[in-house]
Amino acid sequence: MKLILLGAPGAGKGTQAEVICEHLSIPAISTGNIIREALTSGTEMGLRAKSYMDEGKLVPDEVVIGIIQDRLKQDDCKNGFILDGFPRTIPQAEALDKMGVVIDKVIDIEVPDEKIVERMSGRRVCESCGASYHLLYKKPEVEGKCGKCGGTLIQRKDDHPDTVKERLKVYHDQTEPLKGYYEKQGKLRIVEGQEAVEDTTKLTLAALEA
Ligand code: AMP
Repeated sequence: MKLILLGAPGAGKGTQAEVICEHLSIPAISTGNIIREALTSGTEMGLRAKSYMDEGKLVPDEVVIGIIQDRLKQDDCKNGFILDGFPRTIPQAEALDKMGVVIDKVIDIEVPDEKIVERMSGRRVCESCGASYHLLYKKPEVEGKCGKCGGTLIQRKDDHPDTVKERLKVYHDQTEPLKGYYEKQGKLRIVEGQEAVEDTTKLTLAALEA
């Protein structure tokens, strides 16, 4: 199955992508994680993306389209994949169509802006493997440590409140129109994000069947 996860930053796409990844045994591909890895290893692409990312802006389309083009060619994508954080603009969605990628479903996780701002302040990520945690909703077993790889948990620079507001603006202006794009194709499934992650997960898994 070829899936897209849509939703505002902090709506819980990453967590739901991990769930689907295990459920369907297909890779979850996060452009944000790929860019952050490139940044850590100091590649040219990473350095080019840094200023956009730090300000909560979108990295230029041609950069992320290139990333996705390369990633989807890899062997593990043969039986499907989940795109988490791509496409984020109409030109990116059109690029996917032009690559001949036929998406089965687009799951849109809806969370009100106020809730997002509240959630983002508690979000922590592993600086080594990128796994996501939350001080209230998804606590690590050992404080400050990743349960998967033992890495240190940090707050992303772009999760600071002012940057979050900018990211939400960018989401409403540039990414939200994708809902209409995929609704017209009959592929859009809406999941209302719940307080408890497990409850959202149930709705996500049901949406895969719908
Ligand atoms: P994320 O981890 O998905 O919230 O992404 C973090 C940041 O990476 C975003 O705020 C953008 O600066 C950049 N980014 C990730 N995916 C994309 C995309 N599809 N298009 C443009 N920029 C992106």
